[in-house]
Amino acid sequence: MHLFIIFLLGTLLGSFYNRVGKRLPNEENLLKRDCCNSCEYKYKWYEFSHILQYFLRSGRCPNCRKRLDIVPVLNEFFTGMLFVISYSIFGLSNEFLISIGIVSMLMIILISDFSYMIISDEVLIFFNTYFIILLVFTIGVSQTIIQILSGVFLFGVMYFIMLLGNFLLKGESLGGGDVKMMFTFGLLLGPIVGVFSIFLSSLIALPISLINMYINKNHAIPFGPFLLVTLLFLFLIGIDSKDIIEAFQMI
Ligand SMILES: [Zn+2]
Repeated sequence: MHLFIIFLLGTLLGSFYNRVGKRLPNEENLLKRDCCNSCEYKYKWYEFSHILQYFLRSGRCPNCRKRLDIVPVLNEFFTGMLFVISYSIFGLSNEFLISIGIVSMLMIILISDFSYMIISDEVLIFFNTYFIILLVFTIGVSQTIIQILSGVFLFGVMYFIMLLGNFLLKGESLGGGDVKMMFTFGLLLGPIVGVFSIFLSSLIALPISLINMYINKNHAIPFGPFLLVTLLFLFLIGIDSKDIIEAFQMI
């Protein structure tokens, strides 16, 4: 029963994240009802949930019969599932609230970065503030200050990687949003796991980038979602700096 309520909460918030990711970069009204992309048909207020909309309308617009987009439906479903996974690992705790914060950030940035190659500053500021408040309640003020410094450190590391990349590629290597996002990594993972996460997400992004280069002849892919998937994964498995140092000693 608990799990079902958490899943439902995730899908409802997921439908809001769809809107934020799609509309915030264009400064559109977040409360306006959804329209059909091709005929401007307005959906009913209760169809803000794309899952509900999809099933009530059998996957087609009732007016022009065009197929509805499946991507927002999947986003809602995965937000719900990741909320449930977070709950099964952490229970009702501050860690759970941090974990669903990462999921929420991931879902919004997934949409805005893939749609427009944009990571909005508003989104980063909102979630970093949310994480800092939760950290103060979880580990106290002085530990939180150390985590903030580690965020600044990781931002610096990524900024340096960007400058190096720009120099080597003679063009833009990393988006400004990716660099700013590293603050969150340092804040939540600490400096050592944070640096490790940069390498790990590059390993995940590299093959996808190569496939994309081969198919689309276009080397630019949004890096933000890969970074955030890595952050979520490392946070969920609860890796700490000792694990990484031990792993390197074994090599
Ligand atoms: Zn339509």
